[in-house]
Amino acid sequence: MYLSENKIQYVFFHLRQHVTGEVLERNRVIVLKEGEPIPEKISGKVVFYFSEIENPNPVEVDFHGKKIPVLFGLKNIKKKLFYEDAQSNLIFNFDFLSSIFYLLSGAQEVETTQKDRYGRFPYAFSIQQKLDCVHLPLVNYYFEMIIKGLEIFSKKQGLSIKRKRLFDDFGFFLSHDVDRVAFHHPFRVLNKIKQLMGLAPLGYSYTKTFKLFLKGILFNLNPFQKQDPWWNFGWITDLEIRLGIRSTFFFLKQEDRFDNSLYKFHFNKIKSLIYNLKNQGFEVGLHGTMRSAYDLENLLRQKKDLYMVLGNQPKGIRQHYLRFFHPQTFMIQQDTGLTYDTSLAFAEQDGYRNGYCFPFHPYDFESDQMMDIWEIPLVMMEVSVLQYRKAGFPELRNLALHYASEARKFGGIFSLLWHNCRLSNIEYEGVTEFYESLLGEIVENGGEGVPGEEIINRVSNSSLDF
Ligand SMILES: [Zn+2]
Repeated sequence: MYLSENKIQYVFFHLRQHVTGEVLERNRVIVLKEGEPIPEKISGKVVFYFSEIENPNPVEVDFHGKKIPVLFGLKNIKKKLFYEDAQSNLIFNFDFLSSIFYLLSGAQEVETTQKDRYGRFPYAFSIQQKLDCVHLPLVNYYFEMIIKGLEIFSKKQGLSIKRKRLFDDFGFFLSHDVDRVAFHHPFRVLNKIKQLMGLAPLGYSYTKTFKLFLKGILFNLNPFQKQDPWWNFGWITDLEIRLGIRSTFFFLKQEDRFDNSLYKFHFNKIKSLIYNLKNQGFEVGLHGTMRSAYDLENLLRQKKDLYMVLGNQPKGIRQHYLRFFHPQTFMIQQDTGLTYDTSLAFAEQDGYRNGYCFPFHPYDFESDQMMDIWEIPLVMMEVSVLQYRKAGFPELRNLALHYASEARKFGGIFSLLWHNCRLSNIEYEGVTEFYESLLGEIVENGGEGVPGEEIINRVSNSSLDF
């Protein structure tokens, strides 16, 4: 894939999140097309080749005991990642620049016509599915391979080079999408009548639905009602404070009847919840409605509504249902003045949709430029594992610890979304106990629990350090 100068710069911008020094000065790097000879007088340069193919044609390489597919290989496939020629040039044997650009920019989903019923890019049509590599942050591995070459080269050439890490161990970005706040909401209780009459699909067994219906009636009639199982914010925040985690809560506005939430930001209960979260050091962000993924005016209104309650401009957003049109949704979020999005995981599969466990900038293909907004990739939504993939708690735990250890390798981020409405033992037996021990384990393994806005502050400061 031949990349424009802007696209090459885009890759280098992200390489500089991991390494800085004289070795990365632009005039030290030359990029040639596959088959082009290195000009004779050139020496002491870093040489990358572009593969002439337009679409990925993966080649597997062994790296630190792992098989890593490099999306764009070069014709004369060599075993070594790089070599030094007689003129002391460092030459890479794989087209890392295209491989990185392809994943990070989301090229595969910009080009595709494949959509699921919510308009989302399906995992089933992704290169990650094809290569079975969604569990690996490939882009981080590619950067690591480049850095290995640069380190050897810099030493010989006497050039400065310095590695960087965003986190000493890894960043644990925990977030909660506040989709629903009342398990026994009258609308939900009434809906159970429909379910029992066979007019709506059952969420649970018939008997359980009937029991929950009775419980709901009693709950709503009892003037001394106890706490609703989904109004569990005190429990969530107490646990996080105890473990030293500060998470981000994304709030969703009621809109288009029942497609989104059943609350508005200015409801007294929600207002004081937002106020309390903010005062306790948690971040409050926007959970964009279904419509906002393609409607700028709509998103502007939501952001304004949240601002009125929050008292400051929200910085982060996650789209409800992870409904995302690449790059249109990014453009809308950026025009709304948001600083970061964190929607990019596959809804039906945990792992790395852009192959990266670091914040990154998306790419605007139309104007051939890097965008200003940041993406903090989502790595795991509990729904993907428990509902879409029908896996249990033990598997979720293993996966979470795997992603945490990948993040630790690179000083990057493990991002976990857990809905408050999926933390009730009435629906999911043993979930509170499991969740508590999972968070404990992640923190024990070195996870630094920080909200999205703080990750962005960190990465912005680090980007200035060239
Ligand atoms: Zn949602």
